[in-house]
Amino acid sequence: MKAAVLYGPNQVEIREVSAPTLAQEGEVIADVEFVGVCKTDQQLTAGGLESELILGHEVVCQLPHEQGYFALNNEISCGQCSYCQEGLTSHCQNLQELGVNQHGGYAEKIGVPRKSLHHFDFRNPALGVLIEPLSCAVRGVGRILAAANLLSVSQPTILVIGGGLSGALISYLLTHAPDFDGEIKLYDITKMPIPWAQKLGIERVEVPEEDKAHLVVECSGSPSGLATALRVVRKAGVVCIYGVPKQGIALPVSPHELFMREIAVLTSFAGATDKTMGSAIAHIKSDEAFFEQLLGRVIPLEKLPEELTNWSPQPGTRTVVDIDA
Ligand SMILES: [Zn+2]
Ligand SMILES: [Zn+2]
Repeated sequence: MKAAVLYGPNQVEIREVSAPTLAQEGEVIADVEFVGVCKTDQQLTAGGLESELILGHEVVCQLPHEQGYFALNNEISCGQCSYCQEGLTSHCQNLQELGVNQHGGYAEKIGVPRKSLHHFDFRNPALGVLIEPLSCAVRGVGRILAAANLLSVSQPTILVIGGGLSGALISYLLTHAPDFDGEIKLYDITKMPIPWAQKLGIERVEVPEEDKAHLVVECSGSPSGLATALRVVRKAGVVCIYGVPKQGIALPVSPHELFMREIAVLTSFAGATDKTMGSAIAHIKSDEAFFEQLLGRVIPLEKLPEELTNWSPQPGTRTVVDIDA
C-alpha cells in the first residue's frame, strides 16, 4: 500500500509499504479516507524520530463490513496502570499513540482496535478529521472552566491567543458552554482575516492590553504567545497553556512574579476518550456549517511531504489529506 513515511528530520516520502496485518484480538484493518494535518505532525517531522514512522493521528476511516465513517481515537491506553484506573488515559504509563509513536493514518490502510473507532454521520465526512482535535479541546475547556471557579468574577474577560484551529475549537466550546458567561477576545499575530472569529462574534484586538483579561488561553504554542499570556493576565487571573509549547523553552516569568501577581497556570494535554470523542461528534453534528469553515485545503497524499516541511495552512483552518484523491 501507499504510505507517507517519516525517515529523518524533515524527511518524508511516499513509499510502497506492506499493508498492516491483524496483530491482536479486537483489531480491524480500516481503509483510511481523510486525515487532518496537525501542527504536531509538523513538529514531529522537523525533529525526526528514532525509527521510521507513518504519522497521521486525525483519522477518518471506513470498515469493509460496516456502513458509514469512523473517527479514530489514536490514544491506546492499557486500562491497568494507576493513571488508567483514575480515568487519566492520556497519561497511561503504557500509552500507544497511533501516528505519534506507532504507525498512523497517512497510508491507505491502518490496523486499529475496533473499540478505538467512533461512528459518525455528517453530511461531509471530511469533517470527521476535526473529531480528535475537538475531543482534546473538550478536555481543555473542562479544565479551563474548573479553573474559572478561582476567579473573582462570574463573567470574566477572556483573551484567546492564536487564531489557528486550536483557538477556534477552544473559543467555540467556551461560547457554547452552558452555565458559563464571559466576553471573549482574540489576539492573533497575523493581520489575516479569521472568519471563524467573526462567526462567533468574537472581537479581535490588535494589541493585547495589560490588566484586562481575567483568563488567558494560549493557543498559538509560540514562545511570544506564552510570554504575552503571562504578561497581560490580570492579577489573581488564570493562564491556560493549551498550544503545545516548543521543547526547551523556559517559562518567561519568575516564580516570584507569579506568586506576587497570584497567577494560576494550567495546562491541558491530549484527552481523547470515549466520552470526549462522543461529545465532539455531537458538537459537530449540531453545527456542521460552523465546522465546515475550519476545513482548509484538501490535498492528495503525494503532496503531504511538501505540506509537512513547508508549514502554511490557510489561517484558522485544517488542511486535509484525501487518501483516495
Ligand atoms: Zn493533532
Ligand atoms: Zn494505563
